[in-house]
Amino acid sequence: MEQLEVDLGERSYPIHIGPGLLEHGERVRAGIRGHQALVVTNTTVGPLYAERVEQALAGLEVERVELPDGEAYKTLDQLDPVFTRLLERGFERGATIVALGGGVVGDMAGFAAACYQRGVPFVQVPTTLLAQVDSSVGGKTGVNHRLGKNMIGAFHQPRAVVIDTDTLATLDERQFAAGLAEVIKYGVIGDADFFAWLEEHMGALTERDPAALTTAIRRSCEAKAAIVAADEREGGQRALLNLGHTFGHAIETGIGYGRWLHGEAVAVGSLMAAELARRLGWLSDEEVHRIEALTVRAGLPTRAPADLSRARFLELMRVDKKARGGEIRLVLPTAIGNATVTADYDPEALAATLDEHHA
Ligand code: NAD
Ligand code: MG
Repeated sequence: MEQLEVDLGERSYPIHIGPGLLEHGERVRAGIRGHQALVVTNTTVGPLYAERVEQALAGLEVERVELPDGEAYKTLDQLDPVFTRLLERGFERGATIVALGGGVVGDMAGFAAACYQRGVPFVQVPTTLLAQVDSSVGGKTGVNHRLGKNMIGAFHQPRAVVIDTDTLATLDERQFAAGLAEVIKYGVIGDADFFAWLEEHMGALTERDPAALTTAIRRSCEAKAAIVAADEREGGQRALLNLGHTFGHAIETGIGYGRWLHGEAVAVGSLMAAELARRLGWLSDEEVHRIEALTVRAGLPTRAPADLSRARFLELMRVDKKARGGEIRLVLPTAIGNATVTADYDPEALAATLDEHHA
C-alpha cells in the first residue's frame, strides 16, 4: 500500500492507495471520527462494494443511500433523499458521509456533505480510475444544473481518500481508458519522468496489473495534490489541469453529451493542444508522436469526430469558461513535462490544427 498527504494546513488529509483496502477496511474506518456514517453510492457500485465498506464500519450507526446511475442524475433533486435520510435518522454534525463510486457519486456525496448542517466530514472511496486519479482529490464538489454542468457546488475537502485498486477489476474498458487520459495528462503537463514510466508500463496498466496501477495512481494523485496544495481554489496553477479540456469540452458539447466519455474527449483535446504547440514551434514532431503513441496504446481515440466543423469548434471553444473577451485561453505543452496557459498564439495555427484533427 502507498500513502501520501494532501497538504492543506488544517484541512490536510491522507490518500491511501493499493489492493485490498476495502477487504481490510481499517483505512476506511480510520477516516471516520463520529459514531454515524452514511454510505452514498449508486445502483451499480452499491451491490458490488457497499457491503465491504459497511463491514469496515461495523459498530457504527450505518445507513446507505443508492442513487440512480448516470451523469443525468447528478442534480440537486437527487440529493433530496440523501438529506431526508440524514434527518430521519437523526444524523448529527459529527456524522461522516462516505462517497463510494465514480466521480458522479463523489461530487454529489461531497456536495451533500458540504451542505448538511453547513458541513459534515466526508471520506472518498473512488471506484473508477478517473475518480481515483482526479475527482476524489482536491475538494471540488457539486451537481449539474440544466443550464450548465457543475454549476452548483462548493469546495469541501474530504477527511481521507481510500483507493482500492481491486475495484477497477469490474470497470469496463472504455471507462478505464478514459481514466488513463487524465493519467497521461499529468505526465504531459508536469512530469517527463512519469511520462517515460507510462511509456514503459502502459501494457501492464491496460492489463490492470495491481503494482503498476498503484504506482500510476500514486503519481497522478501526487501531481494533483501538489497543484491543489499550491492553488486550492483555482487562481492560477490549477488551470494547468485543464490540458485538453477546452478542445475536449467543445467535442463533448458539439456532438452531444454522452456520446463520448469525458476522458476520450480530453485525450483528443490533449493531442490537439500538442499539435498546436508543434505548429508554434514549442514541441517537436517526436514529442507529439510520443504523446499520440501513448494515447493509442491506452485504447483512446486520437481524432476529433468528423461531424464537428472548424467554425463550430471555435464557437464552442469561445464559450468555454477560460475564454476572456472572445480570446481563447488554452493550456499548451511547451515540452513533455511542461505546460503553460496562454492566449498568445497564432490563430492561423489553431485553425490549421482544427482542420488537421478531423477523423
Ligand atoms: P461515473 O461516476 O459516471 O462512473 C462511470 C460509470 O462506471 C458509472 O456507470 C458507474 O456506476 C460505473 N462504475 C463506477 N465504479 C465502478 C466499478 N468499480 N465497477 C463497475 N462500474 C463502476 O463517471 P466518472 O468518470 O467516474 O466521473 C465523472 C464525473 O466526475 C463527472 O460528473 C465530472 O464532472 C466529475 N469530475 C469531478 C472532478 C472534481 O474535481 N470534482 C474532476 C473530474 C471529474
Ligand atoms: Mg477532466
